[in-house]
Amino acid sequence: MSFQPFSFKIPGEVIFGAGSLAKLPGIVQEKGLGKVLLVSDRGLEAAGFVGKVTAILEENGIGCVTYLDVEANPSTETVDKGVKMYKQHNLDGIVCLGGGSPMDTAKAIAVLVVNGGKIQEYEGAYKVKENPATVIAIPTTAGTGSEVTPFAVITDRSKNYKLTVFTDKVIPAVALLDPELITTLPPLVAASTGMDALTHAIEAYISRAASPFSDDMAEKAMELIGKNIRLFVANRADIDAASGMLLGSMFAGIAFAWARLGDVHAMAHPLGGFFGIAHGIANAVLLPTVLEFNALADKGKYRKIFNYIKDGKVIEGFTPATLVEEIRQLSNEIGIPKNLTAVGVKEELIHHMAVDAMKSGNVLVNPRQTTLKDIEELYRIAM
Ligand SMILES: [Zn+2]
Repeated sequence: MSFQPFSFKIPGEVIFGAGSLAKLPGIVQEKGLGKVLLVSDRGLEAAGFVGKVTAILEENGIGCVTYLDVEANPSTETVDKGVKMYKQHNLDGIVCLGGGSPMDTAKAIAVLVVNGGKIQEYEGAYKVKENPATVIAIPTTAGTGSEVTPFAVITDRSKNYKLTVFTDKVIPAVALLDPELITTLPPLVAASTGMDALTHAIEAYISRAASPFSDDMAEKAMELIGKNIRLFVANRADIDAASGMLLGSMFAGIAFAWARLGDVHAMAHPLGGFFGIAHGIANAVLLPTVLEFNALADKGKYRKIFNYIKDGKVIEGFTPATLVEEIRQLSNEIGIPKNLTAVGVKEELIHHMAVDAMKSGNVLVNPRQTTLKDIEELYRIAM
């Protein structure tokens, strides 16, 4: 093993437990917030979760203004509206409830209400000067891991472009993990977001930027997700499986926050941009193909990944193909579409998607060096 320089930061506070949403008022008070902005979306409002949170806050005398018009791939305009609302009501902090989109929006609002200007001005690494407003993050999928990551991704619609703000300052002050909040997810959402989290762990683990810290987090994530993903898709109300997935997704988030990702994520983003394919589905479909490609660079981690996700089950005559086959079988069992053709990808656009994928910084830390031609070929194989 070789050791390269690394830095690592872990989130400020993680609170976990079935029913732990009830602890929210205490957390808000401890942070000294009198009145908060609740950032969420219309889907979670319809599912009754927003009402549950506002009721808990109000019962405890905490003022709360809701901001629910957050779309998938939230825009700079959505952030600006939230900033305006925050200032209008003279609020003290943010509670965000959701998957990735409300989290990204909340992080960006928190930056702007303190630092001013437009979110575009903070694109890139460490551009935020003052500490943002306090954010308490409550995930409702397992998941993006966004409750513990130092990224906010916002879409600039005028340029049809996704910008990333990266700084440890946007890691939420508190991640409140309540598995009861993910027990009503539809099975395909459970499967696709679960495969996204597993991909975070695997890509972080084999990344060229991996460190002993990120490896530890990724290993725990793979173990938890491997043990629980089938059970969770089968029965989301299984609170132990839901707990394992929510924790696994958080550990995977901490791992990839610092070790970055790889070709799977680089290639998944254009599938969303060109064809509107859900992020988790795109990752799950691409994962076996990219793992096959990366096998040439494997220094023994493939066997470890297999052991983690199979709960220590060692197989005689293990080869990288054994892992690839296991991942294919898992995806198949939980209802992930077989290939890119099945999710509507058109062969004609492969070159354009590959050009886009090459712009991702994740290609640079992929274990095997990757060219534009490689990416085109990988898309073709995944068809
Ligand atoms: Zn992802």
